[in-house]
Amino acid sequence: MWKVTLLGTGGTMPLKNRWLSSCLLAYNGHAILVDCGEGTQIALKWAEQKSKPIDTICLTHFHADHVSGLPGFLLTLGNDGRTEPLTIIGPVGVERYVHALCTITPNLPFDLRFREVTDDTVMVMSSSIEIRPFRVRHGVPCLGYSFTLPRAGQFDREKALQNGVPMRVWSVLQHEGTAEWEGQHYTADMILGPPRKGIKVTFTTDTRPTPNIVRFAQNSDLFIRSYALCRSGSSGTAG
Ligand SMILES: [Zn+2]
Repeated sequence: MWKVTLLGTGGTMPLKNRWLSSCLLAYNGHAILVDCGEGTQIALKWAEQKSKPIDTICLTHFHADHVSGLPGFLLTLGNDGRTEPLTIIGPVGVERYVHALCTITPNLPFDLRFREVTDDTVMVMSSSIEIRPFRVRHGVPCLGYSFTLPRAGQFDREKALQNGVPMRVWSVLQHEGTAEWEGQHYTADMILGPPRKGIKVTFTTDTRPTPNIVRFAQNSDLFIRSYALCRSGSSGTAG
């Protein structure tokens, strides 16, 4: 199950009571942070959410109101004792931009791993989440993201009985996928029906309407259109 927290929905124009762009998507002990606007680490505290489960940061684009919270956030992760690597996904140039931001937070005690998105590419993370970045229309290269959490099939009692699976391992199989009992090996597919449609969340921010949004948001269980007024130099305002 997803737990979605809109940490900030503000933009370039400062507003009382609204933090800058960031969204937390938590699932099964992991979490993804989408954008990291100024003060995101404080917004996490206000929302009473933990930063430790965050193992992936997805950046939509490199306007200040979406990324300027990164140095402080990463520094705090390090001060909290993080040593596990952190993956940062973003448009072309993501590694260069993040390194530039982090010149004021050198010597982080964990590795940063980068995934640069050059086209509409499927990425599957180690925890089985499917992340699909897609291009949207803004004054600079900008991405939306679809996140799909797969769901196993429902428990099928008749199937379990037909396969001779002992009742005492049913619960273990549903939670752990495999079980051993009296020298026999059992797997979850022996008691479950076909996989169900995954739970899909799609997130976009600063973008004009574009067919890619319709294409990737289709069949989402939750579509987030976070509007942040964002001035982008010569290209003017977009959103
Ligand atoms: Zn922007």
